[in-house]
Amino acid sequence: MLQRARKENSKVVLVAGGAGFVGSHLCDALLSRGDRVICIDNYLTGSPDNVLPLMNHPSFRFIEADICELQGIGEPVDHVYNLACAASPPQYQADPVHTMMTCVAGTRNLLSIAEQCGARFLQASTSEVYGDPVEHPQQEDYRGNVNCTGPRACYDEGKRAAEALCFDMVRADRVDARVARIFNTYGPRMQRHDGRIISNLLVQAISHEPLTIYGTGEQTRSFCFVSDLVAGLIALINVDPNPGAPVNLGNPGEFTVLELAEMVLLMVSTTSKIVHRPLPQDDPQRRRPDISRARALLGWEPKIHLSEGLRLTADWFHATLPRQLQACSS
Ligand code: NAD
Repeated sequence: MLQRARKENSKVVLVAGGAGFVGSHLCDALLSRGDRVICIDNYLTGSPDNVLPLMNHPSFRFIEADICELQGIGEPVDHVYNLACAASPPQYQADPVHTMMTCVAGTRNLLSIAEQCGARFLQASTSEVYGDPVEHPQQEDYRGNVNCTGPRACYDEGKRAAEALCFDMVRADRVDARVARIFNTYGPRMQRHDGRIISNLLVQAISHEPLTIYGTGEQTRSFCFVSDLVAGLIALINVDPNPGAPVNLGNPGEFTVLELAEMVLLMVSTTSKIVHRPLPQDDPQRRRPDISRARALLGWEPKIHLSEGLRLTADWFHATLPRQLQACSS
């Protein structure tokens, strides 16, 4: 009777995408709260290293599976978090049809599991649902400016479809689903080659390679440290009543890409210099969350300043990059 042996209020939690960057931090946080965690991942963009320390934990179970094919998991759960989806543009564009199917068929399969168990559901959506926004900062009511036929559509439109599925299930009173619109998040366990701006710049600086900036570098981004995001996800699935609407989770501090590169150059001892490359298609110019809803409903607010989070992330890359490079050359 595993459930009885756990702390009062502890839950059985399914984390899809739990071997990924955010998902593995979420698994850690849930286990620390005393929850039992069932992690599903197909290792498409996640890494066994992220969950290796958890494999012998008595409250952790790992299922290697693709959520597009998932029928069930053979035990009831209280909460389902759906984080399964490649999240960086080169990775989600590598197989765009699979990305779209992960968002639609995969989310449908996980919602069915939640429905069967009467479990609460949290969908990891994204600021990309706002596309290249013409309103700034982005509030949840803004409907976005997405190119539905462009190379990013498999992700942007896939995530929009997944949100629609969740709210259809809520309206039909079939699943208590919540939607987090996550803005750029960074921290230890980001992949060095995932094409995201912070990992790119840190790895380039540590390796003494030129720091690549796409376009002029005047485009802005906001960056949320992973522990802040995980706290927001856990608050959102636990809040009563269901907000019944998406909730932005991100750090409203706004920096140009050039400012970020300059912070990296100050932080990492390096011979690297900045180089500019052409801007990719559909790259948003400005991105900054309005988090009034998360503040009001969840009492949530990010705590880690970019300089502190960058330092923690740089330290992690310093410690692990040699091993990561060795693993890929052997
Ligand atoms: P990640 O790529 O590190 O993690 C995604 C995980 O999902 C990986 O472990 C991958 O192997 C797994 N996965 C992908 N497709 C799958 C499938 N079909 N079946 C089973 N597992 C599958 O990305 P992340 O940064 O940890 O992002 C987690 C979630 O948060 C994603 O849904 C992403 O869209 C969302 N999000 C992240 C950010 C961010 O800045 N990190 C921003 C917005 C939204």
